[in-house]
Amino acid sequence: MKSKENDIGVVFDILKEYFGRYKENNKELQVRCFYCGDSRSKPNKMSLYISKEPVEPYNTYMFHCFRASCGMSGTLLELLRDTELINRPEITKDILKQLTPKFNNDALSKQVSDKPHKSVSLQKKLLSLIKNNEEYSYKLTYVQQRLQRNIIPDYILKTIVTDIRPFLPYARNEIKESLKNYLINNFVCFRTYKLNKLICRNIDHTSNFRYYNIQLNNGIDYYVTSPQLNQLSLIKKGTVILAEGIFTLLHGYDYLTKHKDLINLNSDNIILAATGGGGNATAFYNLFKFLCLNFGVIDWDIVILSDLEVSPEQYSRLRNLSVNKISVLYNAKGDFGDINIQPSLFTI
Ligand SMILES: [Zn+2]
Repeated sequence: MKSKENDIGVVFDILKEYFGRYKENNKELQVRCFYCGDSRSKPNKMSLYISKEPVEPYNTYMFHCFRASCGMSGTLLELLRDTELINRPEITKDILKQLTPKFNNDALSKQVSDKPHKSVSLQKKLLSLIKNNEEYSYKLTYVQQRLQRNIIPDYILKTIVTDIRPFLPYARNEIKESLKNYLINNFVCFRTYKLNKLICRNIDHTSNFRYYNIQLNNGIDYYVTSPQLNQLSLIKKGTVILAEGIFTLLHGYDYLTKHKDLINLNSDNIILAATGGGGNATAFYNLFKFLCLNFGVIDWDIVILSDLEVSPEQYSRLRNLSVNKISVLYNAKGDFGDINIQPSLFTI
């Protein structure tokens, strides 16, 4: 253990040398912000804080700029990439491994950290409430029909909640009494990664009341699942597939697996994620940032499934987050589940 701590010490020595001026205590290193250049009027101001201890729930070293007009944050690994300090010979593979956000396959099914964290006890409690009651299995039939699959793959199934009842007492948004039964009987839910939210879809497709979100906990959270996920490491990269809606995402992934000539899905690691609202560049930027922090997907390929006519240049700012390749698959009709669609492909 001792030697590992010393390894990270090497990183902080490099940072101090690079930035020249710094302040520090046991917990943080404070420097002028690399991203915004820091305050012009206060040349001694140091707004960028770098944690010297792994930060929960990401379980890795993080940085944050407290300058209001900047607010840039990310992992220490990202900072090393952006400053190109990552190329220094002292930064060994071992160090890089330690700087990668910790994540394993278990985490996707458990989706909670075992380490004590303020909201983890609530997450654990919420997790224990998922019981897919037979009584509501007609909701799974709806998902089968929507996905045109007889068997719902495991990676989708484990994100579905059919019995909403136990969650209602934990809802942070006020749900009218008159609405409760309607939600319980007519909505199938998809849980977000940290179970902060249930994204509920009305199974009556003739209804205009299509979506409802039940907020269970504070914090940024998204729908994330993975059909294929092997060992995540800096050496082994993969592809993240992003969409606005969950069904667009799942249909789009099916479409890509059937049209392998279209996009080469890089390696064995594939993560699917939905913004759950918002299909513009900013929504995808924030979602990808969330995936970087939680899954260490730095320098992976991104595929955006889009039904909005957003010019490909708009997505180019995702490059700021260290991306290998960005492809946008644009389908004007919006539903990747339809037959005979002809989406257009842009590479950025
Ligand atoms: Zn800054």
